[in-house]
This record gives sequence, C-alpha cells and structure tokens, in this order.
Amino acid sequence: MKPQHHPDSSSLMSYAAGSLPDSIATVIACHVSTCEQCQRNVAEAEQLGRFLMESSLPEQSEEESQHIDLAPNARDDILALIDSDEYVEPQVVVESDVQEAPSDVPLPLQPLLGKSLDNLLWKSMAPGLKQFVLPATSGTLRLLRIAPGTSMPIHSHTGSEVTLVLRGSYYDEMGRFGAGDVADLDPEVEHQPATATGEDCICLIATDAPLKFSGLVPRLLQPFFQL
Ligand SMILES: [Zn+2]
Repeated sequence: MKPQHHPDSSSLMSYAAGSLPDSIATVIACHVSTCEQCQRNVAEAEQLGRFLMESSLPEQSEEESQHIDLAPNARDDILALIDSDEYVEPQVVVESDVQEAPSDVPLPLQPLLGKSLDNLLWKSMAPGLKQFVLPATSGTLRLLRIAPGTSMPIHSHTGSEVTLVLRGSYYDEMGRFGAGDVADLDPEVEHQPATATGEDCICLIATDAPLKFSGLVPRLLQPFFQL
C-alpha cells in the first residue's frame, strides 16, 4: 500500500546531503526504501546537491557566485525548484524486487535484524509496551511494540522525532498512520498517539533528544522507560 504520510521536504534534503543524525537517517532510509515518491525526491535533491557543488567551484563569475550563495532563503528556492516543472526527474531504481518473501523488516535493517520482527528479543517496558533498542552513533533509535488499543502519555519533544510504522497503525492529532507512513515531528508538536485495535503496532522511532512528557507521573516514569 502507498504511504500516506512522508518525511518533510527539508528532512529529505538533509538526508540527501548526509547531514541528519544517523538515527533519523536510518528511519528515513527505511521509508525511502519502499516509497517511490520519496526515492524520486531524494534523487532530485542529490542531483541538485551535485549541481550546487559543481557551481561553487572557484572559477566562476561574480554573478554566478551570488546566484549559488546559500542565503537564508536558499532552501525554499531549492524546494521550489524541485516542485517546478522545469526540473527533469532522474531515473530511479526501485529496490523492491530484491526481496523474495514479504517481510515487515525494512530492507536497510534486514542485515541487522533478519526478516522477522517477531523473533527479536523484545524487552517489556510497561504493560502493553515493549522495546528493542537499535545501535545509533547519534540520537536514539528503537523499535516500540505497542499492544492494540494502547494510549501513550501526551508528550512533546526537545528535538526532532521521526517515526516509521512497520506493522499495525496508530492515531494522533495528525491523523492515522499505517505501515509505511512516517510522522516527522518538529520539536514544538505535542501529541498523544493511541494504537488502533486488532494487532500490535510496531514502530521504528528515532529521536535526536529526549522526549518531554507533560504529566508528572509520565515524567517520573521517563527514566524507567528510557524514552
Ligand atoms: Zn515517502
């Protein structure tokens, strides 16, 4: 099924430029591995990055230099260019036919996790909440396995949080997120996700800073959850 929620354009640009913390880059890579729309956007951003690099080589006229100077509005201009019709879309290689059997482990994580999320050594954090921590050199990266019909404590973030749903679905103030969907949240967003009924919801979640819980009890529990 086609994803309904994608990473922000700015996150895809940063991903293409290799400037995201590796925890967040991993989540974006997992989404991009199955999303043709984001594969195209990343390929375009990479092509644009190469163009900017080549344009900024020393031998150039003053006028060109002003043109590629990365002013505060540069990112908006770049995004507008990507959206414009003048931009020629590069060919994209779709990796989906590499896989033999369907698996809900994204391709980039299969070397680490294998092909089944059910065989992992899940650690119980609270009733209805299990966690599996993944290695990351910057930020935190974890899988959460949340029982059907579970409501998480309301929280905002001190940094970015990017979530990719791998199985099941959840709802929050932004809508419904099913397998393949990404929630790319800014620090100021406060939300209270709740899983749908029927099956466990398994999400891959990267944060570049700890979460900020609103209530006293969730705040007290935070060190135990290691969230
Ligand atoms: Zn996408």
